[in-house]
Amino acid sequence: MAETAVKTKAEPTTAAEEERELTDGFNLIIDALKLNGLTTMYGVPGIPITDFGRMAQAAGIRVLSFRHEQSAGYAAAIAGFLTQKPGVCLTVSAPGFLNGLTALAHATTNCFPMILISGSSEREIVDLQQGDYEEMDQLAIAKPLCKAAFRVLHAQDIGIGLARAIRAAVSGRPGGVYLDLPAKLFGQVMDAEAGRNSLVKVIDAAPAQIPAPDAIKRALDVLKSAKKPLIILGKGAAYAQADDDIRKLVEKSGAPFLPMSMGKGLLPDTHPQCAGAARSTVLKESDVVLLIGARLNWLLSHGKGKAWGEGRKKFIQIDIEPREMDSNVEIVAPVVGDIASSVAALLDAMGSKWAAAPAEWTSAVNKKREENVAKMAPRLMNNNSPMDYHGALGVLRTIVKERPDAIFVNEGANTLDLARGIIDIYQPRKRLDVGTWGVMGIGMGYAIGAAVETGKPVLAVEGDSAFGFSGMEIETICRYQLPICIVIFNNDGVYRGTDVNTGGDDPAVTMFVKGSRYDKMMEAFGGVGFNATSPDELKRAVNTAMDSGKPTLINAVIDPAAGSESGRIGNLNPQSKLKKK
Ligand code: ADP
Repeated sequence: MAETAVKTKAEPTTAAEEERELTDGFNLIIDALKLNGLTTMYGVPGIPITDFGRMAQAAGIRVLSFRHEQSAGYAAAIAGFLTQKPGVCLTVSAPGFLNGLTALAHATTNCFPMILISGSSEREIVDLQQGDYEEMDQLAIAKPLCKAAFRVLHAQDIGIGLARAIRAAVSGRPGGVYLDLPAKLFGQVMDAEAGRNSLVKVIDAAPAQIPAPDAIKRALDVLKSAKKPLIILGKGAAYAQADDDIRKLVEKSGAPFLPMSMGKGLLPDTHPQCAGAARSTVLKESDVVLLIGARLNWLLSHGKGKAWGEGRKKFIQIDIEPREMDSNVEIVAPVVGDIASSVAALLDAMGSKWAAAPAEWTSAVNKKREENVAKMAPRLMNNNSPMDYHGALGVLRTIVKERPDAIFVNEGANTLDLARGIIDIYQPRKRLDVGTWGVMGIGMGYAIGAAVETGKPVLAVEGDSAFGFSGMEIETICRYQLPICIVIFNNDGVYRGTDVNTGGDDPAVTMFVKGSRYDKMMEAFGGVGFNATSPDELKRAVNTAMDSGKPTLINAVIDPAAGSESGRIGNLNPQSKLKKK
């Protein structure tokens, strides 16, 4: 497409229009975003949104251009999680839209507020299926994959369209919203004053949802009856930004707490009540479980079965979504409300005389935790070359302890599962990972989104396979000079680098090029590359990167024989019981 020059206002076309101030779709969308404090967008330019991106940038919106829409979408999704405002992703029509859609569905699944804005082809041609450029009924396709989907056809509806998108994204259970903007809309001209009047500043976009006093009393009655209480903190609790009250509630209850992976750091993993290192014990043996912003999905074995032991548990659940209750097992004390209001109400009703959890239970949990921590400790101190996972993660664990402010992004199979257990997190919303789907490919998008939104340094620890899904975004990281240090655990393959093809000469399905030097990719874009073959080298390289704040990629050479199939979730990967040929 021939690009038009950057315009600040639409040019008048008739004599009558010359007399009044005009605006157009381009300007109205920008004004509507700014009015609502949405001043960062993540996207990929192209038809029909190239000029829109330029104009937005010129108008003071930060527009980060990516190499692939999926990564831009993941950046927007994590921006939503970190800020409680919808992260905005901008894509071109059909293929770009579809690339962004994975991230939108991911945001919805993880309860992160996000708005995917896509340009689209002309409705008249799409609906008659006459073969427009990048023809696709994007609205219909997006609908089942997100929380809400809207299309704006008239410039005067842009304000309302964006207001609806914002409210849908952040109110109640947060999620992804699709906003379809056909190419023609951008150029539609209207009277500037009428345009200004059509914009909507959304008031109280995520209204507090106060839990009923009865529900609070019921929950506390159940909690009081517990001999072996357990509190589970999910990423909903981290999202809620009610950090002080959550900490007070946990401490007042005296109960062991188990953080889900993105709930880590709400209270430090080194807190005396943290039961992370005694996970199977507390799941099995607890009698009352208080869930705060965590669903009883596959990540918690659906609240039943062997992992949860034989005895019947009583579940108390705090969640903003009423339909989450009883989704897998009976919830005896549902607390439907937003976490900030619900935790505050619980704290208030507990008063000053709340009896802490029985010492017999808490000391049994502590004993188990200490045993497990002691068992792990020597493995984390090895200086083997090539490295195993424990040696490499041992040094990263110390680095994160010394830099609790840094944001830790993590994906992979073994790299994810082992890092989650080994690396302690000390502050809320500092661990960002694959989330509810266990999806690969979030790494670079999350790292960029986190660095841009928080201004904090980011340490992204990636399996070599996981990195491959978004690796080209290292150019984006170098272009914007973001303080991101990427460590690739390179063991030459998916899960391991030792697989053998028993049927021919092609590499086995899980194998990559042996001895790859991912650090050289970073150097190609002016970033810093290191090759680390021992824990000592890895430590030096990461510290150098974190001190400098320069975009850095460290190729951490891991023993190809280290790692297990599918990490900790090998049970979900069906394997043939018949004899292999
Ligand atoms: P995890 O994977 O960490 O266990 P989930 O994503 O399964 O966490 O659960 C998060 C839950 O938190 C969702 O059920 C969601 O409805 C809920 N949630 C998100 N934000 C809030 C909030 N502000 N108040 C109450 N519940 C919330």
